[in-house]
Amino acid sequence: MSSPDTPRDAPGRDFIREIVAADREAGTHDGRVVTRFPPEPNGYLHIGHAKSICLNFGVALEHGGRCHLRFDDTNPTKENLEYVESIKADVRWLGFDWGDGLYYASDYFEQLYDYAVHLVRAGKAYVDSLTADEIREHRGTLTGPGRESPYRTRPVEESLELFARMRAGEFADGTLVLRAKIDMASGNLNMRDPVLYRIRRVTHYRTGDQWCVYPMYDYAHPISDAIEGITHSLCTLEFEDHRPVYDWVLDNVPVAVHPQQIEFARLNLTYTVMSKRRLLELVEGRHVTGWDDPRLPTLSGMRRRGYTPAAIREFCDRIGVAKRENVIDIASLEHAVREDLNTHAPRVLGVLRPLRVVIDNYPEGQVEDVDVINNPEDPAAGTRKVPFSKVLYIEQDDFREDPPKKFFRLAPGREVRLRCAYFITCTDVVKDPATGEIAELRCTYDPLTRGGDSPDGRRVKATLHWVSAAHAVPAHVRLYDRLFSVEQPGDQEHFLESLNPSSLETLTSCQVEPGLAGAAAGYRCQFERIGYFSVDPDSRPDRLVFNRTVGLRDTWARIEKKSGG
Ligand code: ATP
Ligand code: MG
Repeated sequence: MSSPDTPRDAPGRDFIREIVAADREAGTHDGRVVTRFPPEPNGYLHIGHAKSICLNFGVALEHGGRCHLRFDDTNPTKENLEYVESIKADVRWLGFDWGDGLYYASDYFEQLYDYAVHLVRAGKAYVDSLTADEIREHRGTLTGPGRESPYRTRPVEESLELFARMRAGEFADGTLVLRAKIDMASGNLNMRDPVLYRIRRVTHYRTGDQWCVYPMYDYAHPISDAIEGITHSLCTLEFEDHRPVYDWVLDNVPVAVHPQQIEFARLNLTYTVMSKRRLLELVEGRHVTGWDDPRLPTLSGMRRRGYTPAAIREFCDRIGVAKRENVIDIASLEHAVREDLNTHAPRVLGVLRPLRVVIDNYPEGQVEDVDVINNPEDPAAGTRKVPFSKVLYIEQDDFREDPPKKFFRLAPGREVRLRCAYFITCTDVVKDPATGEIAELRCTYDPLTRGGDSPDGRRVKATLHWVSAAHAVPAHVRLYDRLFSVEQPGDQEHFLESLNPSSLETLTSCQVEPGLAGAAAGYRCQFERIGYFSVDPDSRPDRLVFNRTVGLRDTWARIEKKSGG
């Protein structure tokens, strides 16, 4: 299928785009626009990151600017190369290109260290010998001021020497820290002499054992931004209270530019946990099969499930960017996926729970190729040939021996249409004598209805999908449901308790039309009347595996209609 694979260039205006446009007009930052997406390589990207990616790359694209991909790798304990590679792949898959703008905060370690020395020399930072607990005690509370560390007035020369020896590995982890000298009485706790460096003997996945002191996020991030000439540093709201530190750092180290930090609300989705810590817990606890489990909100999970990059970008455009925290209904994401697939995904015939149908008056051994429409939404997609023969499979759900009132599908004595093929009438129900279960249906067909219409104008009330038993290809189908059974699992301490026990159902006796044999992993299609599916990487030529991407029923469209939207 051919989803347009490049980002649109005119998403709606939001407060960030207003600021950037105004800056351009006023010639702030010399009219340049440089943004960055700064993931920490300590997990896989999720749909929340997609919001940030679409915003950062989107804003840059709209102004002919640049967007850097910067790995914020200053905390080596949980970072690794696998995460780096997955992040690159996911950003590319989403359709964005960082060009030559690939950076690592770890490349700035030397520069960051030099700037820290500069701060010490200027009397703006000091080495503190308090323990972590003591530092916490001294920090004070939201309502009361902090207390100054007795080491705050340590002579500059002494701090310089200690900092050098920290770097040289002379002190144990956690014994000394470098702190900024700002204001222990500040109403903002982040400004109460924040820690800039700590000692940590952890091997870094890029710099190895070269360093045993590592900079803190609040110190490394603004300087990384400045080194790269970022103009607008877009981040999520939890950093709002850190902005004074961001600005203080840039005002006190000799960098050439001062990027502007702007905060926006993070994406929250119903029935979804979005923090990397929790996702890691799900992966490590084997509650899912891996980071790319199709039930996870990770981009690799969504890709595997069959979500398209275009649908995810469209979703991100639609939810927009604002300053207020909110929770988006996951149905609106599914709606965007369905809309995109509806336009692009070829239709195929696939039977999930097969019921054998024998057409008694159909010639033994005869096979006909009937023409089936590939995509009613796209006439250019044309038709294909699908074999029809005496023995077929239909969906078990499409037959009722004793049909309730509004059940219009097949029942004893009733006539229905087989999609693009013939009208058939059920004449007999054959049961397994041992179990009493329906083993097969005997039917007759009307040869004059070939193509699916009757020359005498006779109408039927249902059209069923089907496959020819002798030609169909066996398949497994994985039906996914929400991973959690409560709307806001992330709010709960014991979020694992609200895992949905039936988030995955695997059907192993499905039968799909022969044209799907050999379909490659990632192939997306619509099983007519059922939903959208995508071939899983577990698929083998002799046993296809499909993931249900999303069902056909659109709860979101109903929600919108109800609210008059
Ligand atoms: P998590 O909370 O999932 O661990 P994080 O913020 O720690 O995420 P980072 O790797 O630091 O993960 O995130 C990279 C960028 O993506 C940051 O700028 C962050 O603000 C942004 N981001 C993370 N989660 C979301 C979200 N849910 N919505 C929007 N942006 C997000
Ligand atoms: Mg973070």
